[in-house]
Amino acid sequence: MAWDFETDPEFQSKLDWMDHFVREEVEPLDLVFRGPADPFDPGRRGPAAAMAPLKKIVQEQGLWACHLGPELGGKGYGQVKLGLMNEILGRSRFAPTVFGCQAPDTGNAEILARFGTPEQKRKYLEPLLAGEIASCYSMTEPQAGADPGQFTCSARLDGDEWVIDGEKWYASHADFSRFLLVVVVTDPDVPIHQGASILIVDRDTPGLEVVRNVAVGMHSEPGAGVHGHLRFSNCRIPAANILGKPGQGFEVAQSRLGGGRIHHAMRTVGVMKRALEMMCERALSRTTKGELLSAKQLTQEKIADSYTQITQFRLHVLYAAWLIDKHQAYTREVRREIAAVKAAMPGVLRDVVYRALHLHGSLGMSNDTPLMAMWSYVPEMGIVDGPTEVHKFTVAKELLRGRAGTTAQFPDYYYPNAIEKARAKLAHALELEVGNL
Ligand SMILES: Cc1cc2nc3c(=O)[nH]c(=O)nc-3n(C[C@H](O)[C@H](O)[C@H](O)COP(=O)(O)OP(=O)(O)OC[C@H]3O[C@@H](n4cnc5c(N)ncnc54)[C@H](O)[C@@H]3O)c2cc1C
Repeated sequence: MAWDFETDPEFQSKLDWMDHFVREEVEPLDLVFRGPADPFDPGRRGPAAAMAPLKKIVQEQGLWACHLGPELGGKGYGQVKLGLMNEILGRSRFAPTVFGCQAPDTGNAEILARFGTPEQKRKYLEPLLAGEIASCYSMTEPQAGADPGQFTCSARLDGDEWVIDGEKWYASHADFSRFLLVVVVTDPDVPIHQGASILIVDRDTPGLEVVRNVAVGMHSEPGAGVHGHLRFSNCRIPAANILGKPGQGFEVAQSRLGGGRIHHAMRTVGVMKRALEMMCERALSRTTKGELLSAKQLTQEKIADSYTQITQFRLHVLYAAWLIDKHQAYTREVRREIAAVKAAMPGVLRDVVYRALHLHGSLGMSNDTPLMAMWSYVPEMGIVDGPTEVHKFTVAKELLRGRAGTTAQFPDYYYPNAIEKARAKLAHALELEVGNL
């Protein structure tokens, strides 16, 4: 009997330490450094100085960059443990960077480690793992995101150089990254899944222009965000700067997303648990019509429903993580569960944050609590890393695979037919029934 929902005491003590450390030492950074690039841009001196001693403590605790395998200096923790850690990190914008596991650097490190040449690892992976530089992963284009078949940004070999032309869009952290992993069409004559490659482009390469830094949400200045609209014009890089082989781009790209989606989902659980904490405190503090909000059944329903949805979602994410650990591969079953979790995430987050915000009344609507920032994550979660529809399509496709419809007039479960079949099977017992009469 192998079902087990417990965390071993040794690891639980690490989680308890993390929880305390994030609340006490890391969350203050969220309150003081509020710029969109602050947790991610190593060139921002104030945040970098505030993070440096915290990173050192995390390293001393052996909790730095835990997503990495032991060969890269990480712990080689499986996805369940990483999930539980990310649940805690999700409380704070700065926490993932302080623990050396912020996106998109984690996924980029993963594919550089798996597909990079020794020289690429030395030049790009090592400083990335040390937290000295930032990196960018650029795939989406202005005219096409969820449909890669419409990508046009391309590269051709010219002597010993790749020449890149085209545009990219929403390339997070591009402006302050040391290098970018850019998905480009290298063979337009075959389907994109065989004709795309990933190139490593140094940020300061001539011909790479950041046209605009797109900002998300309502409260940033337009154009003052961290998501790059990029233009490549006759941008030349060494032929050796390809990650994997020509045409292998999608295979490489797909291997970076599985674990990342689990971490993202567990960080979202962390956000929701924080919203629930706020909801409970508010319900136990605010009095109206002579009683606390917590005494009102409609408030209790909000709290109970939120707890139930968070718990259901959390267990689903941990189940997907457990499957990855079990199979050690992104099997179809694993991909189905990751897609189901990704598709469910914005809805659960919306329900929980909305209730928390609503219970706070006008205070919830203000930008004087974390609630409004949480609310702006809701639509983001449905878009970033692929729209919900695409992930639902994956789930449905997997569920329908290997099943067949019927050509009969009625389905198998049509009672008259099903009962007749069952009666034939149980004829011997039915005869005894008649005998009892
Ligand atoms: C905060 C943020 C950070 C991001 N960071 C990066 C990054 O670092 N690198 C990067 O490359 N990209 C990044 N992206 C881009 C993201 O991956 C894309 O936005 C996403 O893949 C969707 O592409 P799109 O925006 O072009 O929307 P579209 O592909 O135009 O989709 C728009 C809508 O059309 C509908 N739709 C699309 N496809 C289907 C379908 N098959 N069936 C039914 N309906 C469909 C859905 O309602 C969907 O929401 C980021 C996005 C956000 C919001």
